Amino acid sequence: MAEIILKNISKKFKEEEVVKNLNVTIRDGSFTVLVGPSGCGKSTTLRMIAGLEQQSSGDIWIGDECVNDLPPGKRNIAMVFQNYALYPTMTVKGNIEFGLKNKKVPKKEREKLIREISEIVGLTDYLDKKPNKLSGGQRQRVALARAMVKKPKVFILDEPLSNLDAKLRSQMRSELIQLHKKLGTTFVYVTHDQVEAMSMGDEIAILNKGTIQQMGSPMNVYHEPNNIFTAEFIGTPAMNIFEYNKVKDHLSNLSRKVKFVGFRPEHALLALTEKEKDAGYLKLASEIITMETLGAETIYTVKNEAGVMHIKSFIPPFENAKELLVSIPYEKLYFFDQE
Ligand code: ADP
Repeated sequence: MAEIILKNISKKFKEEEVVKNLNVTIRDGSFTVLVGPSGCGKSTTLRMIAGLEQQSSGDIWIGDECVNDLPPGKRNIAMVFQNYALYPTMTVKGNIEFGLKNKKVPKKEREKLIREISEIVGLTDYLDKKPNKLSGGQRQRVALARAMVKKPKVFILDEPLSNLDAKLRSQMRSELIQLHKKLGTTFVYVTHDQVEAMSMGDEIAILNKGTIQQMGSPMNVYHEPNNIFTAEFIGTPAMNIFEYNKVKDHLSNLSRKVKFVGFRPEHALLALTEKEKDAGYLKLASEIITMETLGAETIYTVKNEAGVMHIKSFIPPFENAKELLVSIPYEKLYFFDQE
């Protein structure tokens, strides 16, 4: 087990700086997710931790050791990637055993480890099968088992579920969470999918253009986004954000400088007409553009003086309605002073 510290880490490819002065502490035993849009520098960061890529400047610490000059094999890290990289001609057992044989672990010990680990990941009945006879989820488990036999200090997982279909992905998410609990080892997980990040991580680092936007628990980044990027990135549909000037007449004077106002689609209330004149809400008379029902929930797209916005509601589509009153409790509004 180990804490990982990235200290002033930057990475340049030729002239382009793709990771910019990262300062991150990944807690020992945490499930930390690096999340952000494609190309923001997630994989490069992971690869630097693993030693597959050399940082242009800064230090990386794993446990109490500065690993800047350590090759990947000496960092005591296990990696799992989306394409599994299994040996096709070997059985499941052969795949898991390969690294152990290389390390000259005695046969008896190898057998014991394989038994233990295949039980944890549910592969006991598949040890004699070749990878092409396995489902995507089972292959992913072999890749995990192969990483686990090394008893690493840190697991690094780069989009490991992106080749699986939606149902299996959701099942594997839950299996990975359980596996992390069982092992208690530090997991560093990369994904572009904020839902995956929110559901799996106990710590989330949101990256954009090579810089950390915010780091915190899922609840922290959802409830207290500290900038517009995080606010829009976390949550589905994305937070509605509009210019303060367009609604300021409806809001009592704010003491701070505000340029933008936001609210989450799930926090607005909908009604056909104004029922009561209660204070405490930003009320926007809106035109309905579309109502898409997902069964339990309906996504309303509406237009009003602030712009086009999305509302998520358990209220089923209003029949024949063209207009709605959208009310957002003041305490559910977010204020931003810059883009
Ligand atoms: P992410 O994992 O967030 O999608 P990456 O870390 O893979 O992003 O890439 C970040 C940026 O660095 C991208 O613009 C990518 O094109 C660039 N990049 C990654 N690897 C290399 C490389 N070996 N040579 C040059 N540019 C690279």
